[in-house]
Amino acid sequence: MLTGKRALVTGSTSGIGLAMAKALAGAGADVMLNGFGDKDAIEATRTSLETEFGVTAHYNGADLSKPDQIEAMMKDAAAKFGGVDILINNAGIQYTALIEDFPPEKWDAIIAINLTSAFHTIRFALPYMKQRNWGRIINTASAHGLVASVQKAAYVAAKHGIMGLTKVTALETAESGITANSICPGWVRTELVERQIEAKAKEADISIEEAATNLVSDKHPSKQFVTPEQIGQTALFLCSDAASQMTGTHMSVDGGWTAQ
Ligand code: NAD
Repeated sequence: MLTGKRALVTGSTSGIGLAMAKALAGAGADVMLNGFGDKDAIEATRTSLETEFGVTAHYNGADLSKPDQIEAMMKDAAAKFGGVDILINNAGIQYTALIEDFPPEKWDAIIAINLTSAFHTIRFALPYMKQRNWGRIINTASAHGLVASVQKAAYVAAKHGIMGLTKVTALETAESGITANSICPGWVRTELVERQIEAKAKEADISIEEAATNLVSDKHPSKQFVTPEQIGQTALFLCSDAASQMTGTHMSVDGGWTAQ
């Protein structure tokens, strides 16, 4: 389905981004990975995509809090691929504290990585997509792009912001064969969430598994975590012809969280 397409997935060395990269590679797309992590582990992931799916996989370790590194990554993708057909803005970090205790430098980092980086990747990707008359831009937002929680001021602001950026992108590309949509996951048990579960277990002096059950049951009527693979398949759907008239909107995959 995606043979001949070139995809860049930011924050794809673990969790949701890695599952999205695998889903796209599984459908035949060449991929460029991005994110932090152990060098050897990243190289093993890159080569396993190539051997498992018979696609070309590259890696660029740009720090997405740095606009000059984002520009260099987009130039690298253009040099290696000729351009990016599918852009998934997925890299993200979290920090929790009440607003009055929130370190300003954490606010700046979350806005830079979770929101501003997508502005930069999109602005560099669009000219090529417009030239080809085809493109898919998928932004990993969150249930926190739709509703708020305490102690997550920067994250909720960034995720609401990326929902707005998605809509403007959709309007500006509406006649170009390009779509722009957000995916809004609920709780997915990745590194980012594991750290929050550990903190809650410590705080309440309960086991990790009990804290995980409490966390998911508090927000998901389904009382189940979403899996990274389910988000990968959602991204794949947004790349399909069936979704060519879906643009400027979002898909919630949240166990019913935002239906309440
Ligand atoms: P994760 O920690 O497993 O993945 C985050 C990825 O971003 C990693 O590859 C990491 O290396 C990369 N990254 C972090 N800082 C970076 C930087 N400065 N430059 C480049 N890459 C950087 O977490 P995840 O849960 O898979 O998160 C992926 C996305 O999904 C995030 O945008 C997150 O906000 C969003 N999300 C997660 C959940 C959840 O429950 N896990 C829910 C909703 C939305």
